[in-house]
Amino acid sequence: MKTRRMIMLITAALAGAFCIAALFYVQIYAAYAAWNTPVVTEKTIPLPAERGRIFDRSGVLLADNAKDGGRYYPLNTAVHLLGTLNSKGEAESGAELAFDDRLSGKDGVRSLKYITCRGETYLSEDNTVAPTDGEDVYLTIDVKVQQCAEEILADAARQYEKGVDYDTAAPPSGSAGAIVVCDPRSGEILAMASAPDFSLTDYHKDYDEIVSAPDSPLLNRATQGLYRPGSVFKTVTAIAALSEGAIDSRTRFFCGGELWLGGDRFSCMNSHYSTDVVKALAVSCNVFFYRTALAAGIEPINRFGHLFGLGEQPNFELPTLTGQLTEPELFEKGGFTRGQLIQAAIGQAKTQCTPLQLAFLAAAIGDRGKRPDPSVLLRTADREGNTLYEHQPSAAAVITDKNDAFSLCIQGMVQSTVYTYGEYALSSLEKPAALKTGTPQSPGGYDSAAVGFYPADDPETAFCIMLENGANAKNAVKKLILSTQQ
Ligand SMILES: [Zn+2]
Repeated sequence: MKTRRMIMLITAALAGAFCIAALFYVQIYAAYAAWNTPVVTEKTIPLPAERGRIFDRSGVLLADNAKDGGRYYPLNTAVHLLGTLNSKGEAESGAELAFDDRLSGKDGVRSLKYITCRGETYLSEDNTVAPTDGEDVYLTIDVKVQQCAEEILADAARQYEKGVDYDTAAPPSGSAGAIVVCDPRSGEILAMASAPDFSLTDYHKDYDEIVSAPDSPLLNRATQGLYRPGSVFKTVTAIAALSEGAIDSRTRFFCGGELWLGGDRFSCMNSHYSTDVVKALAVSCNVFFYRTALAAGIEPINRFGHLFGLGEQPNFELPTLTGQLTEPELFEKGGFTRGQLIQAAIGQAKTQCTPLQLAFLAAAIGDRGKRPDPSVLLRTADREGNTLYEHQPSAAAVITDKNDAFSLCIQGMVQSTVYTYGEYALSSLEKPAALKTGTPQSPGGYDSAAVGFYPADDPETAFCIMLENGANAKNAVKKLILSTQQ
């Protein structure tokens, strides 16, 4: 019995030992197999593209990439035109947004495949799609003209603090405003300034303050500010009435300082007595244009207004407001009266324009009917400066020059420059300038507008200066023109 029990015990012990050995063997073998089997791991590393830089027309750097991310602005000029990036670095407004496709480039990626086998890791594949850096954008603006325009607006704001001075020889003043300068031949914008502005460098830090400021510093008044053109619009009325034959160069109307229409009195700034169209533009006689509008009617005035781009959406890279002309349809039945007609003829009533539109009105008059599309894009280039894209000027409208209409309008605008005095006198410029001023009624009182071009007979620059609640925009013209001549 004893022997049999011993055999059973030994058998059990052997079986147990075998099981343990087998289990041990399986584990060892499994570990060995795993160790010996290749394992693939993948990793992708994004390769962000470098955002393109922004320059002025001659290559002055306006926006670059900061070392710590975000944007770096060496001059903090043309802030509305350059536009902003949000805190994630995405384009938000201005040229940054308008040309984002060109500026942003294309991100690349590095795809890595690793194999781990027998305790060692090998890089088995490295597929890199390199990023394509964004294109550098050269804007049409000229930093010298741009900074001059910004200085004019800043000076006007300082003058406004002292109180608006309607003295003709006083410096320009205004609580806010915009200046647009363009080349009438190409439509290239040389300056686009809007006040108040803000610091692009501190945009994210000061964001809450900027968006809640009552004078809306984020608003680009050059493209999104709507103003009555006032007497500036008399140029349109003159060209429409002359072209249609409603008046001619010999037509004279008498101004006794007012016009009575069915019991309503419509005033002029002065008594201008016997006036033809050239003198009427030079002295800005309301009565002459009241009578001209009564002779011509609203249809040709508005038709020419549209040809000049007023109440029209410009074909432009940045968002702009369309504004409107005083269309009879805007009035309730019977609401469009002869009183509305004559107010429309002097740029009042329901007429609203952007400073951009008014600069291009001046451009089209200066170029005798040829109105180009506005543009702020000159070209794009790679990092080495090789041109990748060049903007081609395009025509927005061509107005037929009939009955000497443009020539007579320009004569009136040249004569009006004699009403600039002292240090602001346009007569001291090398060549004659063409100017039309306006003091349109606005919700805050009066705005002060000056549009024109230089030189009058073959213009290289056209401009609009609009000062809100201000005066003497015409006294900023000489400084602005001189900045384009440097
Ligand atoms: Zn008058």
